[in-house]
Formats: sequence, structure tokens, C-alpha cells
Amino acid sequence: MAKAATQVPLLQIKNLKKDFGDQQILKGIDETVNAGQVICIIGPSGSGKSTLLRCLNHLEQPTSGSVLVDGKALHDFTNKELASLGERIGMVFQDFNLFPNLTVIENVKLAPKRVKGMSDQAAEAVGMKLLAQVGLAEKAAVYPASLSGGQAQRVAMARALAMHPEVMLFDEPTSALDPEMVGEVLHVMQGLAETGMTMVVVTHEMGFARKVADEVWFMADGQLQEKAAPETLFSAPATDRAREFIDKII
Ligand code: ADP
Ligand code: MG
Repeated sequence: MAKAATQVPLLQIKNLKKDFGDQQILKGIDETVNAGQVICIIGPSGSGKSTLLRCLNHLEQPTSGSVLVDGKALHDFTNKELASLGERIGMVFQDFNLFPNLTVIENVKLAPKRVKGMSDQAAEAVGMKLLAQVGLAEKAAVYPASLSGGQAQRVAMARALAMHPEVMLFDEPTSALDPEMVGEVLHVMQGLAETGMTMVVVTHEMGFARKVADEVWFMADGQLQEKAAPETLFSAPATDRAREFIDKII
């Protein structure tokens, strides 16, 4: 359990709806993520989990409703504020998205230099510290192609953290990994949670959710059907819907 959870709203989701064509994918989500909280989102494929995450960092724009970051609605952000949203909200995807033509340390240094205007030396120092944090300092000079999936995902995490985000979003970060590599990635995520990082994690890793999440949200059909502390949601879900889903992933 993240010890740092506060009552300070960092992300507020207000009656968030998202349509693609004539399909309503998010049907009115109302939720809050407080600073220091770790939220795990579970739910069947196609239920809108990725779309919700993408609305949180403005990769998708809601059809109606709003997302507030630190109390300010994204639709009221200036272009400049929107441009820096990527610094404030880090995201880690299922398939890592590392730049294959850059070494590991260059991957981590790129955004701090380009976006924050950090000197090479300063970015190197930050980057090496973060690679050490994810257990990969010795891989700094290699190219992503020589990394295992678990290592690549840990580099992706270091790269996102290099911008000192206020919140980290993870979209099924271990789904593309061979089973023996899942643990190392979850271990680093748990360490990150223990630093007090606010995290929203789409994952079906129940062991992780039980240990680390403050709340689990169960989504189905574009709606948040149920939310609870992990021990409650996994052991005694309130709805048949959630029970059926949890029985399948156990
Ligand atoms: P989940 O992450 O829970 O599996 P998604 O948010 O990825 O669900 O997708 C929910 C639904 O929205 C799916 O039916 C998907 O096909 C649809 N969808 C997602 N993104 C787009 C898009 N850019 N254009 C059209 N349909 C989309
Ligand atoms: Mg998804």
C-alpha cells in the first residue's frame, strides 16, 4: 500500500465521455486520483481502459466532460501548458517504444535535453541515477535491440521518470513480456510507488495490485462499475460482472 496517499486531488475526471464514430467508448466516468495514490485499473479487453488513460494525458480529447490536472481543466490549458503536459504526466506503454537508433542512456537523456533544455552533463547525471534506480546502470551504452523485454520496459520507465513527472500512467506494462520478466518490472514499479509517486496502472497483475494499489477500479462497457481496496475487490466484489472477470484472471 502506498504510504504517501493524500487527499489532494491531482487528476479529476468529470463525467468523461468519449465516442469513436457512433460508438460510445467511455460513458461518463467520474473519479479522482489523489496525489501519492496508486490506482490499478482492471477490466475486459475493449472496456475503454486505454482510452481513459489517453484522455488523462490529452492523447485523446474527450467528446464531453473533462479532465482536471491540479484543479485546472485540460480544455482550459494554453498551448504552452498542453505542450508541457508530457513532462508532468509520464506514460509507459505495453510495447516500450524506445528509440532503436539511440543507446539506452541517450534514450533517457533525449527529452530532458530537448524539452527541458538540460545540459548533456546534467541529463547524463539524471539519466545514470535513474538507470541505477531501475537496476540497469550497466546497460547505459547498449542499444535497445540487445535488451530483454523486461530490461527495455525498465528503460522506458527511466526515460519517463527523467522528466520528473507528477504522475505516471502505465498501460499494461507487463502484458508483452515473457512471464519470467514480469516480476522485475513489477518490482521496479513497486519501488517507484514507495517513493510516493502517483500512479495509474492498467494491469491484471493481481499480486501487484494487492501489494501496491490503494484502490482498484473495475471497468466494463465504458463505465467504472466498481472500485474498492484491492483486498475487497478481489475477495468480495460487489457485482457479478466483476466477480466473473476476477474468476477468469485468477
Ligand atoms: P481497453 O484498453 O480496455 O482494451 P480501449 O480503450 O483500447 O480498451 O478500446 C475501447 C474500444 O474503443 C475498443 O472497441 C476499441 O476498438 C475502440 N477504440 C479505441 N481507440 C480507437 C480509435 N482511435 N478509433 C476507433 N476506435 C477506437
Ligand atoms: Mg488497452
